[in-house]
Amino acid sequence: MSGVYIHIPFCKQACNYCNFHFATSLAKKQVVLDAINKEIFLTASGNSEPINTIYFGGGTPSLLSVSEISTILKTIRSFYTINTNAEITLEANPDDISVEKLESWKAAGINRLSMGVQSFLKKI
Ligand code: SF4
Repeated sequence: MSGVYIHIPFCKQACNYCNFHFATSLAKKQVVLDAINKEIFLTASGNSEPINTIYFGGGTPSLLSVSEISTILKTIRSFYTINTNAEITLEANPDDISVEKLESWKAAGINRLSMGVQSFLKKI
């Protein structure tokens, strides 16, 4: 059993209890995405075990555009064998979810969401 974890270290705002590594500025987003795609290539050599799980964690991976998520998945598919029934998870902020986003994420290959909910109180 083999899996790939992709850390997306960006968030809309800082939660005061959080110990994860993240930034609230997206200024370095493209640099990070380029490094992730390069890292996938570098770690793939010699690893022929089929992938059963891919997990986009963070941070807030749902801050990425569908095209950015799709590019990362295409890079993984280029260098690894992905099982046809692999579980591909995106951690999502409830604020980032819409019907259009769900359809696009599904089309890109995401088949599972993980949502962190800190409060069910809605600001009006
Ligand atoms: S959204 Fe999650 S990762 Fe980002 S600061 Fe809050 S708890 Fe940390």
